[in-house]
Amino acid sequence: MKKFDPASNIQDLLQFGEFGDVNPSITDSATYTFLEAKSMIDTFHGEGHGCFLYSRHWNPSNKYLADAMAAMEGTEAAWVTASGMGAITSAILQLVNSGDHIVASITTYGGTYAFLKNYLPKFNIDVTFVDITNLDSVKKAIRPNTKVIYTETMTNPMLNISDLPSLSKIAATVGAKLMVDNTFTPMIVSPIKHGADIVVYSMTKFINGKNDCLAGAICGSMEYINSLSDVNSGTAMLLGPVLDPLRSSSILKNIHTLHIRMKQHSANAMYLAQRFKEIGLKFVYPGMPECKGHDLLRLMMNPEFGYGGMIAIDMETAERASQLMEMMQKQGVGYLAVSLGYFKTLFSNSGKSTSSEIPEDIQKEMGLSEGLLRFSVGLDNDIQRSFDKIHYCLKELKFI
Ligand SMILES: *Cc1c(COP(=O)(O)O)cnc(C)c1O
Repeated sequence: MKKFDPASNIQDLLQFGEFGDVNPSITDSATYTFLEAKSMIDTFHGEGHGCFLYSRHWNPSNKYLADAMAAMEGTEAAWVTASGMGAITSAILQLVNSGDHIVASITTYGGTYAFLKNYLPKFNIDVTFVDITNLDSVKKAIRPNTKVIYTETMTNPMLNISDLPSLSKIAATVGAKLMVDNTFTPMIVSPIKHGADIVVYSMTKFINGKNDCLAGAICGSMEYINSLSDVNSGTAMLLGPVLDPLRSSSILKNIHTLHIRMKQHSANAMYLAQRFKEIGLKFVYPGMPECKGHDLLRLMMNPEFGYGGMIAIDMETAERASQLMEMMQKQGVGYLAVSLGYFKTLFSNSGKSTSSEIPEDIQKEMGLSEGLLRFSVGLDNDIQRSFDKIHYCLKELKFI
């Protein structure tokens, strides 16, 4: 099989501006003129090929970024949104009607969980939550009216790995779509190559990598992406979660360094994981052979990008997690902040922050310890120094 290389796919794009500008010009316009009235009418009827109409529908700057995302994922098309939640909610709502059913991983981003659990029932859409790593329970949850199997490649915050090829086979038995949130593993895993139908992203995280804005993306077939922007029935068109073109253009520039950043995040995380193991910490890092999802990730990954920048350590109690986080911030390990994929290390206590939408009893059921401390490992040039600081904090607090 020819190697799939998301980084070269982006590198190979020839996107330049109208004056030969190497960074495509920013289209700072909400609306567009037509030289002939007929072209406008055609565009409204979905026939205005290559015409831009209004920026909630399409904007040239957004199109450049969407094309780069489609190239990276190996999909026919993509759409960009103002946040990851904008992408996830639009992508799901486009596929389900009242009376339909969704099977979803119980470990997902807290906002996604809340949308599936609390918001969709308003529309009489039923969601069954399952342990996505248990394929039998996924099979059992499937119904004739299941339209979507929803999961994350590497799930938040437990860092479990989804078996995408098997899930896509299960989805196909009832004609459901496999939708995958690949926010934690851009470039590392290309879900479409493993049977996913639709890939969604929070570009706020690794893809942009600067923590200066929110953004999201939906990647899939041309037919599906066109359905999202349909003027009569497209969720993205009608709910309007459009990304600002100034942001599209800044994110497009950052995407071109994503491969280098992913390699460094992965290398730094692997170093920390190995040292955490030496000092006997309880942690999850899918790059370590003893970690549950390791073999599965190895089968699916584009290996040159490593195992990703996310590590979770279990401090057992929320109190101990808080003490460690405050001290690590003072020592300059990174910031006590939610979010991920930043150039500095970020850490947060998942159960009390980004997964706090998930009720405590469900957190227990999914095996989420209240002391789980999630690290998004930064691009530190000297990661050994960062480990030494973490080690110092652990000793000072008498945790080791
Ligand atoms: C942050 C995040 C989201 C939500 O994205 P926003 O850009 O904050 O709307 C969705 N999924 C995952 C895995 C995330 O980490």
